[in-house]
Amino acid sequence: MWFCIPAHGHHNPTLPVAAELVRRGDAVRYYSFEEFREKVEATGAEYVSCDRFLPGLSAWEEAALKRVSTTEMSVVALRTTGRMDDFLREQVEEFRPDVIVSDSVCFWGKLTARKYHIPLVVSTTTFAFNQSSSQYMKSSLAEIADLIGGSRRVKAELKALEKYGYHEKSIMPLVQNDNFTDTIVYATARYQPRSETFSGHYAFVGPSLSLPYEPAKDNRRPLVYISLGTVINERPEFYRRCAEALGGEDMDVVISCGRSVDVASLGELPENIRVYPYVNQPEVLSRANVFLTHCGMNSVSESLYMGTPMVLFPQTNEQRAVARRAGELGAGLPLKGEGAADIRDAVRAVLAQESYAASAMACARDFRSAPGAAGAADFIESAPHELPEEDRRQRRSAMLAGWMQLLYWAVAVPLILLLPRWTAVRWWMAAIAANLLFGPYKKLLERKGGG
Ligand code: UDP
Repeated sequence: MWFCIPAHGHHNPTLPVAAELVRRGDAVRYYSFEEFREKVEATGAEYVSCDRFLPGLSAWEEAALKRVSTTEMSVVALRTTGRMDDFLREQVEEFRPDVIVSDSVCFWGKLTARKYHIPLVVSTTTFAFNQSSSQYMKSSLAEIADLIGGSRRVKAELKALEKYGYHEKSIMPLVQNDNFTDTIVYATARYQPRSETFSGHYAFVGPSLSLPYEPAKDNRRPLVYISLGTVINERPEFYRRCAEALGGEDMDVVISCGRSVDVASLGELPENIRVYPYVNQPEVLSRANVFLTHCGMNSVSESLYMGTPMVLFPQTNEQRAVARRAGELGAGLPLKGEGAADIRDAVRAVLAQESYAASAMACARDFRSAPGAAGAADFIESAPHELPEEDRRQRRSAMLAGWMQLLYWAVAVPLILLLPRWTAVRWWMAAIAANLLFGPYKKLLERKGGG
């Protein structure tokens, strides 16, 4: 049984894997949504529609979901899980799966595996995030406010799930990667931040792309490709500014503006700029010399696979993590501002400095030598994976680290509270001192704990 959430970015890397499993003679039932039916059926897997289980949303909830609000996504996923409960029981009884593959944020897939004690493989279409690699994700103030403001609603939804036999205290174990669950990541170990902190339960298989294109950059003049992906792409003013920035430059520019922006509304465009609602992105990338991207995991993987350097323009915390890693590898330059001059300067800089293209090509070589979809299929077929000794040691270390952390706070909190009473030290001085002392200790815990 394969479960995914209704999003292109979460489906795309899984499709070559599903196709590979079918090719090998495995029976794959893929639980998805009408929008993706064609894609899923093309793999040869059995498509099962789940649209009727998605809860109805108010206009306000719909808008929050479009903004990729973590609270809203969690609320919808938890409600969907409850609505699917009867159906999933019937499906498990009838299909009797050997393994469940679930997207890393598809709660109903993960919870079904847990409820019916079926081996689970998590399919992670972003980077894998643990204590160490999540330092790459810097949440914006709005994202932090969303998490804090939404915690009561999420708690209420978790409570509502109890009657179906799901007893989750928090959503963290549902969204975070841990070191004890078999997990596929569609990134190579070189590309995944801090991959050395993950256990042997992780398969860093690299991008799962079955593309008939090779990098071919022999353009008459540079080709620049611009896209903000398929989710938060309703930015007509940004596309207009791109046209203003690059119009009349000695380069060809292709903009994919998404289906909700009317191309005509962008006005008359310079002769070197072409705008489309949707393009065959991997094909365009195979020819492009620069990609101005919102840094969705798929877009950046495809770009690096085609050896195309990037101008990095992330919108969400997850995209900021991808942007930071691409920047660290030397394959992209962050966009400093959203003005026409910023866009022009960044595109010119990436074109002018050869090191960006060379680093992107180094990534392309790394990605192309990874096992990809076939590696993911091997990993699924051989699940569940035995805990090697190294893993057991790590599990013990993580437990020990948890206890040590608890001990630390058991000492630090009374000290922060009592020290100011006994001495002239103020409480905030005690808090800062405790935090400073905690610094090196925290590093040690991270090294020991990993997940
Ligand atoms: N895509 C495409 N044509 C377009 C725009 C996007 O084929 O005109 C595909 C792109 O190749 C990628 C996916 O849509 O596979 C976008 O996924 P990503 O994770 O980059 O971003 P998201 O849309 O999830 O924000």
